[in-house]
Amino acid sequence: MPNEDKQPATADSFDVIVIGGGPAGYPAAIRAAQNKLSVACIDEWKNHDGSAAFGGTCLNAGCIPSKALLESSELFHRVQEEFATHGIKVSGTTLDLAQMQKRKSGIVRTMTQGILALFKAAGVTPLQGHGKLLAGRKVEFTAHDGKRRLLSAKQVVLASGSAPIELRSAPFKSPEIVDSWGALEFESVPKRLAVIGAGVIGLELGSVWRRLGSEVVMLEALPEFLAIADQQLAKEALRHFKKQGLDIRLGAKVTGATPGTGGVQVTYEDAKGVQQLTVDRVVVAVGRRPFTQDLLAADSGVQLDERGFIKVDDTCRTGVEGVWAIGDCVRGPMLAHKGKEEGVMVADLIAGLYGETNYKVIPSVIYTAPEIAWVGLTEEQVKASGRAYKVGVFPFLASGRARAMEQAAGFAKVVAARDDDEILGVHIVGPLAGELIAEAVLAMEYSASTEDLQRTIHAHPTLAEAVHEAALAADKRAIDSINR
Ligand code: FAD
Ligand code: AMP
Repeated sequence: MPNEDKQPATADSFDVIVIGGGPAGYPAAIRAAQNKLSVACIDEWKNHDGSAAFGGTCLNAGCIPSKALLESSELFHRVQEEFATHGIKVSGTTLDLAQMQKRKSGIVRTMTQGILALFKAAGVTPLQGHGKLLAGRKVEFTAHDGKRRLLSAKQVVLASGSAPIELRSAPFKSPEIVDSWGALEFESVPKRLAVIGAGVIGLELGSVWRRLGSEVVMLEALPEFLAIADQQLAKEALRHFKKQGLDIRLGAKVTGATPGTGGVQVTYEDAKGVQQLTVDRVVVAVGRRPFTQDLLAADSGVQLDERGFIKVDDTCRTGVEGVWAIGDCVRGPMLAHKGKEEGVMVADLIAGLYGETNYKVIPSVIYTAPEIAWVGLTEEQVKASGRAYKVGVFPFLASGRARAMEQAAGFAKVVAARDDDEILGVHIVGPLAGELIAEAVLAMEYSASTEDLQRTIHAHPTLAEAVHEAALAADKRAIDSINR
């Protein structure tokens, strides 16, 4: 829609209505407003205390609160396990979980209220309540107080997000069996905790409570650890997690969880047969499903695929003229930054500008210690493609900065094509891997070769030198480690 097409918004009509104010929807709304379109963003999120807030899963119950608790729990762990090595004696360290949770909630509140400030500055109309797409780009809005309005828009963006998958064998019916949001709100440290699913979310939550003192058993149905990641990376990470006392049981499929007076009895099946385990709390972290409940009127024309995702093409068009869908409710990785990029793309395309999401270069980060991050293809994927490749690995043990930080676990790994030297994937397990991966993302966005990275000066001593040296190692030209 060209800018000159913009019509002044009446109370009930907008150029763009975004349904969903999470990390996909709110950036779409802001960018559309930056593109001089009149925009409303509808969001129905309510916190456990009944307060409404923008920001969706990510800000209220996902990325942000989990990272706040990961940071606090890691500090608690390091004070006890690492400070003495630095020559710092601390005695009588105790945990004030209420304060830790209060800090987390404060961060969440500030960030979610920040979205309202951003909306105000950009000129986005915030509407808190439920949005439903009707035929002809009409939207029925039901405010939290029950009042209804019929809105219309030239373009509608659906960004309704996702919800945790519930296991029939361990339903969320008792307070002891919780989803990831529940696991971020514990008011006391469970003595024995079972985490079902050793994926990204399960590993982060398991780490938080292990560091704070829980005995954590992680039950993962798949026989491989972190099957989605490069397996050299996964093996290294598993070694460290086991050392930290995370009891990760692979090939363990949970078939039941029954709360009783002595705790929750969890039943699972592994290669040896049926096993049982008694714990105080259970976190179910077996993945998320697209959330589209009461989002679409029967005649809206928008279609879902067989797994419940809203069907879209590469540029997030649904097939209904002027209706788009972005974020966790559409195909692709369920990541905040993927949704954000789609939101920006759609808002630019609506304004007649250029917009694209590069699905080949989306970074993944797991905020454990050591941190895990990757972008592009794993070595296994490149091997399976049949393309000749080379690999460079640099261990953080050889990094002066990592040593100085007392965090020399892990490595950086670059996988590149043998023919034209293009970087195909970068995999990092180690300190601040999630920050380090940004360089690799940028390099791959520009189709860089290992030579490009090799010839780029990296400050010394920094963790980023590990990526530089891994690129050099791909040609057996690393300086600070032995080339094998
Ligand atoms: P959501 O964030 O789910 O937002 C959708 C919003 O739309 C919600 O507010 C919902 O209430 C609202 N809504 C839905 N339907 C309607 C309707 N009909 N009317 C009005 N409003 C509606 N991702 C990362 O990239 N990094 C991380 O570190 C990370 N950590 C995570 C940790 C945890 C514990 C969890 C659970 C998730 C984590 N994620 C992380 C995933 C991330 O939270 C999601 O990918 C992201 O929130 C998806 O954004 P979204 O906008 O598509 O959906
Ligand atoms: P993610 O998709 O990264 O959130 O990870 C979810 C993990 O949960 C996957 O690795 C699944 O294999 C695992 N999972 C799913 N169902 C079960 C189950 N019944 N018991 C144990 N693990 C499961």
